[in-house]
Amino acid sequence: MAGVGLGEFEIIRRYFARAGARAAAGTTILGIGDDAAVLRVPAGCDLVAAVDTIVEGRHFLRGSDPRSIGHRALAVNLSDVAAMGAIPAWATLALSLPAADPDWLEGFAGGFFDLAREHGVELVGGDTTAGPLTISVQILGVVPAGEALRRSGARPGDLIAVTGTLGDAGAGLEVARWAQRPRDAHALALLRRYEFPEPRVAFGRAARGIASAAMDVSDGLAGDLAKLAAASGVAAAVEVDDLPLSTALRATVSPAQALDQALGGGDDYELLLAVAPEAMPRLAAVAAESATPLTVIGEFRGGEGVQWTRGGRPYVPARGGFDHFGGASTQFTD
Ligand code: ADP
Ligand code: MG
Repeated sequence: MAGVGLGEFEIIRRYFARAGARAAAGTTILGIGDDAAVLRVPAGCDLVAAVDTIVEGRHFLRGSDPRSIGHRALAVNLSDVAAMGAIPAWATLALSLPAADPDWLEGFAGGFFDLAREHGVELVGGDTTAGPLTISVQILGVVPAGEALRRSGARPGDLIAVTGTLGDAGAGLEVARWAQRPRDAHALALLRRYEFPEPRVAFGRAARGIASAAMDVSDGLAGDLAKLAAASGVAAAVEVDDLPLSTALRATVSPAQALDQALGGGDDYELLLAVAPEAMPRLAAVAAESATPLTVIGEFRGGEGVQWTRGGRPYVPARGGFDHFGGASTQFTD
């Protein structure tokens, strides 16, 4: 890797070939060090694969805490695996770095491996190159054959449920842009939701076989629910007064801004699910087991599109979901 002081081999050896977690859900035949990793999926399982890239100035602010960047690079992928009802096992990491700064690498690897250990994810390979700060993580998980949760399974009459609270991370990004780090506990809680999202892996896995469809909420509920409804060929009806909003969010922004963040802010990494009414008690029970708040916000119906109401009257969300190539809205460019 030209132009980076520490040397590609040394970066890999020092920061990434360290003994992290072993894959909890599969067997690693060969990890970092050869031309490719060799992985064994347990018999009777399907392999689940996802990749997400985060780019400085696009998905995180310039100068962000490297620990948060390492955490988020993995968290966004774990959230996708959770939404499939799968168990994460392995990851690969493609890193493009403007400079080999040991402090930055230490923080980044610390954030990445702390979360990897928590979820039994083993880093089995990657690529390290000089260039604009860009991090691509590919995650591999396993799920009993044929049982992955999909976006396409919602049926008319299913309830719409969402985990946790919505809008915190969007507001947390606003807090991250403040000139000074906040001292207020609520603002700090929002910032933490943005910097260190906790993907719903245990709950997603437990929801398999109970929920009829699932996806993660990464781009704001308004856009993401529309995607799930379209994939399932159904309509959705949501009462926005029923959206779960945190105390921290309510205390920090106006009611209108809270609703706007819940519907149009991104980066929450909560799960959105469809569940038949008769299966709802079982879903609530597994949510309680993993200490996951779960709120019913509406129902799926025949037809298409999403009907939003506020206090029973038609409501139009201020923004749709985030789209990188959507023209008018760029997330941030500083
Ligand atoms: P090759 O040139 O054959 O692709 P590299 O020299 O790029 O091999 O990488 C050597 C080994 O280190 C490979 O096993 C690769 O998967 C691993 N590796 C490279 N960069 C990273 C990284 N950022 N994180 C984890 N593993 C990495
Ligand atoms: Mg290489």
